[in-house]
Amino acid sequence: MSLFGLRPEEPAAIRIREAATRGTLSHALLLTGSGDRMSAACFAAAALECTGGESRPCGVCPACRKVLAGIHPDVITVRDPDHKNIAVDVVRRNRRASQHLLTIRRWR
Ligand SMILES: [Zn+2]
Repeated sequence: MSLFGLRPEEPAAIRIREAATRGTLSHALLLTGSGDRMSAACFAAAALECTGGESRPCGVCPACRKVLAGIHPDVITVRDPDHKNIAVDVVRRNRRASQHLLTIRRWR
């Protein structure tokens, strides 16, 4: 069964889950490769925000469900369809906008 579009046995899921469970998951991740990077990003965001069980993300706590639904106030999805990579200006614009957003947890 996949959680956030990532199967639990996938290397990215294992590494994110282990780091989140240890409390060492970085606030910034660079996701590269040909796999489903958006699912991996969603999985990592949920792992950071999860308030559930020992294994993070649990997929059932309110924070995980909000990330999955795309409504968690601390999780912003940045897309730049005009470029292959996300342009610096797009990141700067989102960074400025995020400074004024409500935050629930310690991560931004
Ligand atoms: Zn959770």
